[in-house]
Amino acid sequence: MASETSNCEQVFACTRCGDCCRGYGGTYLSEADIASIAEHISVDPETFVSDYCTPSGSRMLLKQGPDGYCIFWDTLCTIHPVKPRMCRQWPYLKSVLVDETNWRSMASMCPGIRTEAPMERVRACIEAFIAAAADRDGEP
Ligand code: SF4
Ligand code: SF4
Repeated sequence: MASETSNCEQVFACTRCGDCCRGYGGTYLSEADIASIAEHISVDPETFVSDYCTPSGSRMLLKQGPDGYCIFWDTLCTIHPVKPRMCRQWPYLKSVLVDETNWRSMASMCPGIRTEAPMERVRACIEAFIAAAADRDGEP
């Protein structure tokens, strides 16, 4: 699987601009995300939720600072090894498999997305990354 995902630079190469860490509705957290980030920053999960999260319906979002950036953004992601699944998966999203026009829409927000890449290749990369995430996280 690694060989399939490692050949995706022609599809996406992050410029580290940080735009995806600001605004756009925030970053949702799974229970696994909460546990791993809390452990990484050496707080218990309850403290992490109260100090670093904000509720959105039945789910938790990472708080944002006054500048609109994620609370863990500081010219780069300060929790990179344990960043939420939502951050790890970008831009390899199922929604692009459902509607390929989403790839171009996402590119308008993310300069790392290569719109000139053949959509066949984009689809193959998305499928490979989703499969790798399911292997790693044990979730579909
Ligand atoms: S917006 Fe795209 S290119 Fe910029 S940091 Fe986020 S993923 Fe990388
Ligand atoms: S956790 Fe890291 S990658 Fe995700 S939004 Fe926050 S700073 Fe960005």
